Amino acid sequence: MNRDFLIKMKEQLPPQITLVAVSKFHPLEAIREAYAEGQRVFAESRPQELMSKVEQAQDMPDLQWHFIGHLQTNKLKMVLPYADLVQSVDSQRLLDAIEKWGREHGRRINVLLEMHVALEESKQGFYEEEILDILFRVTQDKAYPHICFKGLMGMASHTDDMEQIRADFTRIKSFLDYLQDLFPELESFKELSIGMSDDYQCAIECGSTMVRIGSAIFGERNYEK
Ligand SMILES: *Cc1c(COP(=O)(O)O)cnc(C)c1O
Repeated sequence: MNRDFLIKMKEQLPPQITLVAVSKFHPLEAIREAYAEGQRVFAESRPQELMSKVEQAQDMPDLQWHFIGHLQTNKLKMVLPYADLVQSVDSQRLLDAIEKWGREHGRRINVLLEMHVALEESKQGFYEEEILDILFRVTQDKAYPHICFKGLMGMASHTDDMEQIRADFTRIKSFLDYLQDLFPELESFKELSIGMSDDYQCAIECGSTMVRIGSAIFGERNYEK
């Protein structure tokens, strides 16, 4: 764990921005070290790994978990009981399944809608029209009563070109502003989860309220494990 980086981030990050420590592929020991420095919000991308870490982290009850990976509808039971926020909702089908789970379990699930802003077609996420359609149904038809829509999440194009990354971040920030004007009744819809280890500074300049930082805190991930 890069303790100096974590301490510096916690000191320098404006208070309205949440630092999400992306602990995927790192052992619980790394989480404990970050916890000892006061870090409380962690994110995982695989249901099984989230579940096993939650079980091992019982002695850190004020720790919060975010889910940031692709979530299959048959894995909801491994994620929704534990996640304080599901950042990576990227399909209508997944939203419908989360709503059904929430209804059955008497819970209201916090989500971000993942927006497709990158150049790569392969990247996940909704297009603007789809997000508009969902939020119209939420506000007009009272759709998804068991889901609390907290804002947008996005990943920039996979490139070193900071101007492209800035353009992606600016697009998602502008869309969030537009949605807030259009749907003032959605009072909780204010989070903008953009920025990772290599582009968080640019994301903060572009209006991020949540940065998701993995390798800069925990070092390189070992995908072999
Ligand atoms: C892995 C991951 C991150 C963290 O990436 P780093 O480059 O290690 O900071 C952030 N967001 C998502 C969605 C991820 O999957």
